[in-house]
Amino acid sequence: MLTSGGDAPGMNAAVRAATRAALARGWAVFGVHNGYAGLIAGDIHALHARDVGGIIQRGGTVLGSARSPEFTTEAGRATALANLKQRGIDALVVIGGNGSQTGSSVLTNEGLAVVGVASTVDNDLFGTDVTIGVDTAVNITVEAIDRLRTTGSSHKRAFLVETMGRNCGYIALMAGLAGGAEVIAIPECEIEPHDVAERLRAAYRRGKTHALVVVAEGVKHSAQAIVQHVTEHRDTIGFGLRVTTLGHVVRGGAPTAADRILATRLGAAAVDQLARGAAGVLVGVRGSDIVATPLAEVAGKTKGVNQELLALARVLAQ
Ligand code: ATP
Repeated sequence: MLTSGGDAPGMNAAVRAATRAALARGWAVFGVHNGYAGLIAGDIHALHARDVGGIIQRGGTVLGSARSPEFTTEAGRATALANLKQRGIDALVVIGGNGSQTGSSVLTNEGLAVVGVASTVDNDLFGTDVTIGVDTAVNITVEAIDRLRTTGSSHKRAFLVETMGRNCGYIALMAGLAGGAEVIAIPECEIEPHDVAERLRAAYRRGKTHALVVVAEGVKHSAQAIVQHVTEHRDTIGFGLRVTTLGHVVRGGAPTAADRILATRLGAAAVDQLARGAAGVLVGVRGSDIVATPLAEVAGKTKGVNQELLALARVLAQ
């Protein structure tokens, strides 16, 4: 198995679960260090039950992760496949996000039995409601919002929190909803800086002592552009606006219980799929059920957010 792309809290719980579920079936298990780059370099080591002990609560990934441009080439993948064959390895579990599962799909087409495990803080993967890591990322963002709210109230200030998610606004939307944000800006529903200013102005007039703006990193009008506009019109808005960029903080640290449980279920489910001879799929979750979606349907696609929740957040910001 390998972990690939951006690290996500809960990846270790998935590694632990997949390893022990496979060992329970009497299989030999190997961990690949540093994602697809390690597959090409042959950085592959046996994993035993004790090797994955004490990691369920740890953030990041003990296997390491990397981006590997070489893996997108036919020659790179041929080396990777040869390394697996040489060790007698006949199946691969790929724990990662969108790009990683596109790689899984390509490997499947080249004849390897691959099962993907949905894992990325972005939660943009097609074929699953949620991915490993996103619950932790949402909770860290909510904690930041809560903390900024207390200082904002004391000084009658507005704060803008920029959070992760690449081109997917899921973290910003969910954290904004849970944190009671006045404005949520996400790539799936762009908002102009003058509209942000108008909503802050209205909030000030309604007597709010603070206001929170949550922005996903992939928006067209960046956090800086919004702040510049609000600062230029501060006299008519009432609030000044300060920026906090969370960046990689949202994917660091220990995974939440929800992420550990999801990762545990998906890691074990990946082994179940292989045991059934049903490779070439991504394991994810729909409602409370574990589901498997063909990698060919997942590759290169991204999932949108629930726009109704955005409308609800706006109503509740009154
Ligand atoms: P996250 O979104 O959480 O960062 P990710 O899995 O989307 O995770 P990427 O950097 O997009 O992260 O992809 C990880 C790796 O997957 C790439 O470095 C590359 O090796 C491989 N990969 C991506 N796209 C392809 C592709 N089209 N064909 C083969 N391999 C790919």
